[in-house]
Amino acid sequence: MDHAPIRKTVIVGGGTAGWMTAAALSKILQGNVGAIELVESEQIGTIGVGEATIPQIATFNRTLGIDENEFVRATKGTFKLGIEFVNWGQKGDRYIHPFGPYGLDMEGVSFHAYFLKHHGKAYDRQTPEQYSLQAMAARQAKFMRPVNAGNSPLSKIAYAFHFDAGLYAKFLREFSEKRGVKRTEGKVVGVNQVAETGFIRSITLEDGREIDGDLFIDCTGFRGLLIEQTLKAGYNHWKHWLPCDRAAAVACTKTSPLLSYTRSTAHEFGWQWRIPLQHRTGNGMVYASDHVADDVAVERLLSCLDGEAIGDPRLLQFETGHRRKFWDKNCVAIGLSAGFLEPLESTSIHLIQSGISKLLQMFPDRHFRQADIDRYNRVTTFEYERVRDFIILHYNATQRDDSDFWNYVRTMQIPDYLQDKIDLFRSYGRVFRENEELFNDTSWFAVMIGQNIRPEGYDAVADVLSPEETARRLNEIRAVIAKSADHMPLQSDFIAQTCAAEELNPVAG
Ligand code: FAD
Repeated sequence: MDHAPIRKTVIVGGGTAGWMTAAALSKILQGNVGAIELVESEQIGTIGVGEATIPQIATFNRTLGIDENEFVRATKGTFKLGIEFVNWGQKGDRYIHPFGPYGLDMEGVSFHAYFLKHHGKAYDRQTPEQYSLQAMAARQAKFMRPVNAGNSPLSKIAYAFHFDAGLYAKFLREFSEKRGVKRTEGKVVGVNQVAETGFIRSITLEDGREIDGDLFIDCTGFRGLLIEQTLKAGYNHWKHWLPCDRAAAVACTKTSPLLSYTRSTAHEFGWQWRIPLQHRTGNGMVYASDHVADDVAVERLLSCLDGEAIGDPRLLQFETGHRRKFWDKNCVAIGLSAGFLEPLESTSIHLIQSGISKLLQMFPDRHFRQADIDRYNRVTTFEYERVRDFIILHYNATQRDDSDFWNYVRTMQIPDYLQDKIDLFRSYGRVFRENEELFNDTSWFAVMIGQNIRPEGYDAVADVLSPEETARRLNEIRAVIAKSADHMPLQSDFIAQTCAAEELNPVAG
């Protein structure tokens, strides 16, 4: 068989996407599949936001062999057990979308079915939280890693991180350079293609240097220097479903207690994030420019901070959607160059990770077989669309009618796939994870219940347990979870003992 391995991979861009890609390729390919060079420009800089993640990031770090305490210390990170949504269903509502499952499945029947059977219609948005250790611990600002404790929920604690994305990129740069990645500082001013095929042959830097390669990874952020400006991959726009197109971001001084969850608070024209780090709190307002002026959004952000603002807010613009081709010819777009979904469920860094993992599954040789490229594009499109639907759910499943913004998202036509999910849930509370979509049935359940979608009945299979037995078991689950949460330390104590950033460590100090 004609084997033509990649001799050199060029990664253009050194934000979170560029350095995550460099780190993963250098670790997994171990220098056996050509050289890796990363080109970045300090003059252009990075987007510099992106602080909340989902649990899969821990797998990424583990695959790289990164010590978790070292990573949290280096990025001034904290632990995240879920997201609290405030004012989303109606003003005054609050619920947590926790990581990890609620309760446990019994007799082969999902916990959700028993929940709906037992509580009938007599539950509120926070009732499910009593069945989730992550939610109960988050409410009390607690955290610990899972321990070996048999069937106890303490052995299955699911968590992610909040961290400074700029420090993460720096951490991964060091990691990658140690594994042979060559970093080149310079601004790319030209992308050179092979005339007959349109494949990328090389890039030209401002000072005239030319860097050639076989495989090019476009990590240049929103501009998509290679994938769009050169290869014209095209873009699927989703503004009609997700009208937010701007963000203002600002950090503020940290507050106590150190919370172990992200908060997302809805406003009349968008929503605000709050992400606690060890040394500060990250904040931002995501908003729809068709519905509010920048200065009003910024003023609202500044008036809703928990601490003193650090510096001035940064304004960012984005277009929700994705490239029609994530991979075209010998160029793969990863990160913001591939597409963007607002950070409501903290998915962007995960989409980077997932792009890298799919690239490794279908790592090309110099033949760049179209079947591999097509599969990559197909599965990545599916992934983006399903995350999109989950995010749309938060907007569409609202009862708010206090602004044009909410009236629009509440009444808009939603994608058929999402409508089917909602219809299924409305009938007997059934939720399914389809194929390899990112969010599982627990996540769909959390948001649908949290935003007041009420099933008309419960799934009949839950009758395998009598009402009395169901009540007994659910009471027991609640008691075990409450006791487990009591047992957990405050996250601030946990961090002080294990992974406080050096200058912040009261234990070491
Ligand atoms: P960038 O950070 O923009 O990096 C681009 C790189 O390309 C830079 O190194 C730049 O120097 C280089 N470059 C560009 N042009 C050239 C050129 N001509 N020559 C040389 N180099 C060049 N994600 C999450 O997971 N969680 C969150 O909570 C979250 N919040 C977000 C909030 C907002 C408002 C936004 C906009 C994004 C958020 N994200 C979040 C997404 C996250 O910030 C990005 O996915 C992540 O930072 C990756 O960015 P990137 O590396 O693709 O692009």
